[in-house]
Amino acid sequence: MDLNNLLKKYADLIIKTGINVQPGQTIILYADVDQAPLARLIVEAAYAAKANEVILKWNDPIIQRQYLQNTSVDRLQHPYEFEKVAAKELMDKHASRISLLSASPEALNGIDPQRIHISQTAQSKVKQPVTKATMNNDISWLVVAGASLEWAQKVYPNLSNQEALNKLWESILTISRVTLDEPNRAWQEHIKFLNQRAKWLNDYQFDALHYRSDQTDLTIGLPENHLWEGAGSNDKAGNFFVPNIPTEEVFTAPDYRRIDGVVAATYPLSNNGQLITNIKLTFKDGHVIKATADQGADFLNQLIKTDVGASSLGEIALVPEDSPIAKTKTIFYNTLFDENASDHLALGAAYPFSIQNGTNMDANQLKEVGLNQSEIHVDFMIGSNKMNIDGITKDGQKIPIMRNGNWV
Ligand code: ZN
Ligand code: ZN
Repeated sequence: MDLNNLLKKYADLIIKTGINVQPGQTIILYADVDQAPLARLIVEAAYAAKANEVILKWNDPIIQRQYLQNTSVDRLQHPYEFEKVAAKELMDKHASRISLLSASPEALNGIDPQRIHISQTAQSKVKQPVTKATMNNDISWLVVAGASLEWAQKVYPNLSNQEALNKLWESILTISRVTLDEPNRAWQEHIKFLNQRAKWLNDYQFDALHYRSDQTDLTIGLPENHLWEGAGSNDKAGNFFVPNIPTEEVFTAPDYRRIDGVVAATYPLSNNGQLITNIKLTFKDGHVIKATADQGADFLNQLIKTDVGASSLGEIALVPEDSPIAKTKTIFYNTLFDENASDHLALGAAYPFSIQNGTNMDANQLKEVGLNQSEIHVDFMIGSNKMNIDGITKDGQKIPIMRNGNWV
């Protein structure tokens, strides 16, 4: 594997197919410090595509950990004013946003969940303009990953350090279609395929979906005029971008008031550096009334209490068991990868573009049509080769969508 050459192709894919940089644009790149080599290549590719400026925001999970452990609660609660000003200023400029992730799935393991929760709540207020612009697709944005040693050790515990790191890079690049001759072209075909699936679901306009497996029996209502989407979206300026690399899902928003039954996660969930395993949720009239987990139950229950919407759902996504990621039979302990190997749901906010005309609605209007509002959006994986999903039409017909985890 010629890693350097592949990373160049990866950077090119990120800039062209991912955020689709336009001449004169400002880009913010959030990157973990161990990704400096890839970050530099992304910056190079961005300027080659005539970006005006790339702003780097480095994150070091080890320093983040020390901060969360040691700083005062007052400091956790009160971010600096200049952070708010910066977030707003960048969004006024319509800056595109790239998040390059590589942190260990358990980077913040052992830290008081309450402190993480306080910090996260305060940070989400600071980042509100960015989150809003992202959820609304006002700007083009992208989440991608790079391999780090700590992450690789978790995914491949039986390999030596160097072997594990190489193997994780190889997986990321293969799954993201970077190892193909022309990644940008391969992505065009992939996007076409996902759009066909989305169209099939849109034409049906199901009233609800019913999920059944050995551990799950859940009915999820769908709002009128909901839109299924796959792979990519247009930003406000009308430029097509792909917000996740990799992506294998088609997704829409549920009606947050009509969710009933039990659902079990089939993958562990790493959220904010905390690992949560064997999640089980019981829903009644749209909200979680019981949440359990083997590891991380406290953190999960904190998360659900973030606000009213945090105990309901904002996204339902379908991913077949024969997706290239699922076929690796690997648990990546990273939502970007695991969610694209498995049907998933998200606790928290819905994307306004999941319903017709949603991006022109305000929060109250969105709520009225059934789109959940929250400060959080946390995906968790529920798919398996035992999952069967039916679409229920308005006149009560049941149409099979998935059997044993694959498209019918
Ligand atoms: Zn999703
Ligand atoms: Zn999601």
